[in-house]
Amino acid sequence: MVGHAPIGEYHLHFCPEEPIACWCPPQPLQTRDHILQVCLRVQCTEDCEPPFSQIEVLGFCKLNDWVFAFPPPPMDGNLIEQAEWGHL
Ligand SMILES: [Zn+2]
Repeated sequence: MVGHAPIGEYHLHFCPEEPIACWCPPQPLQTRDHILQVCLRVQCTEDCEPPFSQIEVLGFCKLNDWVFAFPPPPMDGNLIEQAEWGHL
């Protein structure tokens, strides 16, 4: 992984208007290494070791689907109403 993902470290260099701190206390700079190695919000895999291979990183991302991902777009009023009525 090269660090080109919507994380704080990337925002710091390319999107300064976006947040750079992680959501875990004490809100450190959200770097790739922080997420993969020490973030308190991530669920660890069976051995709780940071992922090393591409397969392990893929499993890590599946387990923690919020990491290295863009937030979902906000729902508009029609979609919220449909969801409330169970039509989504
Ligand atoms: Zn964190």
